[in-house]
Amino acid sequence: KQITENKVSPEQLQKLDKKHFLHPTTPLPLQQADGPAVIFEKGKGIHITDVHGVEYIDGVSSLWNVNLGYGRQELADAASEQMMKLAYASSFFNNSHEVVIRLSEKLASIAPGDLNVSFFTSGGSESNESAFKIVRHYWKLKGQPKRRKIISLDLSYHGVTMGATSATGVPEFKKMITAIAPDFLHAIPYKTNCELGDKNDPDYDRSFRGIIEKEGSENIAAIILEPIQGVGGVNIPPEGYLKAVRDLCDEFGIFMITDEVITGFGRTGKMFGVNHWNVVPDIMCVAKGITSGYIQLGAVMMTEKLRDELNRMSDDVFYHGFTYSGHPTACAVALKTIEIIENEGLVDNARIVGEELLKGLNHLEQKHKITAKPRAIGLMGAIELFRDPEQSIPFSPTEFAALAVVEECAKRNLILRPLTFGGMNAVAIAPPLISTKQDIEKMIDILSDSISAYEKQVL
Ligand code: PLP
Repeated sequence: KQITENKVSPEQLQKLDKKHFLHPTTPLPLQQADGPAVIFEKGKGIHITDVHGVEYIDGVSSLWNVNLGYGRQELADAASEQMMKLAYASSFFNNSHEVVIRLSEKLASIAPGDLNVSFFTSGGSESNESAFKIVRHYWKLKGQPKRRKIISLDLSYHGVTMGATSATGVPEFKKMITAIAPDFLHAIPYKTNCELGDKNDPDYDRSFRGIIEKEGSENIAAIILEPIQGVGGVNIPPEGYLKAVRDLCDEFGIFMITDEVITGFGRTGKMFGVNHWNVVPDIMCVAKGITSGYIQLGAVMMTEKLRDELNRMSDDVFYHGFTYSGHPTACAVALKTIEIIENEGLVDNARIVGEELLKGLNHLEQKHKITAKPRAIGLMGAIELFRDPEQSIPFSPTEFAALAVVEECAKRNLILRPLTFGGMNAVAIAPPLISTKQDIEKMIDILSDSISAYEKQVL
């Protein structure tokens, strides 16, 4: 029976959710037993409020995407004006419209190097999926169709479509399918010495370089990596790593794709993650922060050289496009989002306030008995939990330590995210880029109280 009343009680919503809604990335038995954990109703700034009127600080910008915070009138106006002017227009068959052109030009102006051409999607998975198709298409046109293999890193997260799942290095996300797509390989992250040629390292065979040598570079299409791994634990590469990967790709003529889905648009205190190391990839995939999560949009940004070569090698149709590639409303919101990031100096803010975040996490490491490995780059941070950090003794998986601390935070009205892949127990913190120093201090205080509460239970 359909709901006709405007106001539905929280209890009704709880029941209807259980009955009709299949949640993404959710322990479904838990949802079927208890219904959803929280039903959100509204947001303003860095705060988000549930249907019972409980207000939380959103310490992870939802899914690392609501970078400008909630309730931004300018973004709503940009969407509404565009919807009234031209809600949708396809750019298939060589058609176009003003906002997709303006956004393409704007992205070119803020991207590193000559990443001056964009193909649009509706999100991160579609962007990575498209990048894989584009590089394989390139090699096919080039007369090297065997160059199909894509190498990514263990603990990477690239999304949930078939290719993106296959490239993902977090094993949990592969559980749903019995066979991943062929021609995807995984390397051990951050083996800078191996990438520079150190064959004495016992991990050499599983470095990018070792894999390229074993498989033969004539079979490799591209390497894909996040400049800073997000879902896999906020893993910041050591100095020199990205440059070593860039040089490796050049040495073997392999495309370098960077997945900037989280790190793009100021999250790390630079406009893009690769800017920390002055590396320019051949392809850069973006999504999330491009619209601050207000509407679905992603992009595959590529060098003009790559696009020109694709054009030169074939006069056939480019047989790849989504109905919503370059959706006008999404493009209008993206343009406004980038304008706000620039006008409000949010990249600098992420860098400056990010220093407070790192200080705060370092302080937590000092203060608590179960904390270790604090890290942050801009407003992208994490801290790990160990039963005994000094001896690197982890909590057992059944203790759900990171989840427990995050639940303690939620009791104190702060939303954070546990990152528990590969046996890690990390708590991620990635608040909106509009956060102030005081906001960060408050979040760190709450996290500290929550860790103390958990320590009382387990030590
Ligand atoms: N790549 C990275 C680095 C991500 O963090 C994500 C999502 O979290 C994706 C790709 C997938 O993006 P989407 O969920 O928009 O498909």
